[in-house]
Amino acid sequence: MQDQFLQGLSKAAQGPWESGVLPTANNLARARASLPTALSNHGAEVETVKRHITEDLVPAFNGGSISSNYYGFITGGVTPAALFADNVVSAYDQNVQVHLSSHSIATEVEFNALGLLTDLLRLDRPTWQNGTFTTGATASNLLGLACGREFVLRKAAEKKGSTIQSVGENGLFEALQASGLSGVQVLTTLPHSSLVKTASILGIGRANVRNTCRRDDPLRFDLEQLEKELAKGDKASIVAISCGEVNTGRFATANGDEVRSIRELCDKYSAWLHVDGAFGIFGRALDDSSEFQTIKKGCEGMELVDSITGDGHKLLNVPYDCGFFFCRHPDLAVHVFQNANAAYLTVASSDSPTIPSPLNIGIENSRRFRALPVYASLLSYGRVGYRDMLQRQIRLTRMIYGWIFDHPAYTALPAATSKERLQDQAFIIVLFRANDEALNRDLAKKINETSQMFVSGSSWQGVPACRIAISNWRVDEDRDFALVTGVLAKVSQC
Ligand SMILES: *Cc1c(COP(=O)(O)O)cnc(C)c1O
Repeated sequence: MQDQFLQGLSKAAQGPWESGVLPTANNLARARASLPTALSNHGAEVETVKRHITEDLVPAFNGGSISSNYYGFITGGVTPAALFADNVVSAYDQNVQVHLSSHSIATEVEFNALGLLTDLLRLDRPTWQNGTFTTGATASNLLGLACGREFVLRKAAEKKGSTIQSVGENGLFEALQASGLSGVQVLTTLPHSSLVKTASILGIGRANVRNTCRRDDPLRFDLEQLEKELAKGDKASIVAISCGEVNTGRFATANGDEVRSIRELCDKYSAWLHVDGAFGIFGRALDDSSEFQTIKKGCEGMELVDSITGDGHKLLNVPYDCGFFFCRHPDLAVHVFQNANAAYLTVASSDSPTIPSPLNIGIENSRRFRALPVYASLLSYGRVGYRDMLQRQIRLTRMIYGWIFDHPAYTALPAATSKERLQDQAFIIVLFRANDEALNRDLAKKINETSQMFVSGSSWQGVPACRIAISNWRVDEDRDFALVTGVLAKVSQC
């Protein structure tokens, strides 16, 4: 269905994606030249506009979603069910802001989709079917830190016996003064850049996102150091676990016991515990087979935290913009995100207490029916369908890692002493470099110039590196392994 739809859109998209993963320079130039220089007075026929988009613009898009060989960033793709649902969302343009059960089913579908996600991620429904759909993991991290900031400063003010208790109500400055603190800090290891960005937006400050990692491993917590930071009396703390680090795909915690220790520290010092599991949290969809034990353990214990960030538009393979946010404290988000004193929204408090109105627990007031593609794709694949998709992605990652480990022209990263250990820790990202320095400087460029596959340039310990992120639902281990290793073998001879 998707391929027919895309073929209908453009000749350039004969599916499965047969043109390169990047547009040709010609197509880009043609598209650029076709852009209008000013708004016309009377507009054009819809057919003309359609033709312009499909014939001029679409050929200048990349194959990020449509090709399973686009390995940049972590882009995911769009499952057929999600594509259908996304078109329904646009066609019916439901505004998901207020939960009013006699007006539309939309908020109930969103609530149901949250429940289905808790099932997929093995989180207890009564505790976790609480949260909202966001534009992506960045927005979910913003919600997590905002709820955390509200929580930790409320605790601090309570301890002081202050009447000023809410950042949402009184603002950060008054809340800090009332609690006698100088600020809020976020303690973490190898955070995603978006977490640092949200610390800036929320008045926490980028400089107050602090690494508390071990000396021998930048991703793992040094629990002693973490406790020292938490014990500092002048700041309230949020601890953030990187459940799936974007450069290596690895996990900040090794098992549930480690998360439990962090939880105990957070309770002792009244800190909030947040998880950025944009893609890593999906490791919880795996079964107990020994093949994936290390991954399963890496996302163990996440049911002990206060808030969870997840992405829809990555491993769930629904269109941009879609993320989700779970919070185990049902009333907290309202203190931050409520629309107070808006007469025309007085009905907006929702007519059923079990489903809060999205506009009072998230950033936007009016927004699209974001959850429908998630709902459709979860119904279409079920638990086993998503597990199988993820298993194929992990297996391909490990096959490529094995090949790179054995190849004299390349080095797998982070440096590993054995192939088995490397493969055992691998999730959906292959990080590597070329041994020849000149080649390594241009490696991503040379690979991408083939237009057969796309990788992101990155760096590891200050040296350029490449990243293959495998996140598309179309992944086929054998076919894609042959293509990737073919390209890498060819590039190594340049
Ligand atoms: C991608 C990613 C983000 C940011 O997500 P967006 O969906 O791009 O906003 C945050 N954290 C992690 C770990 C990620 O991989």
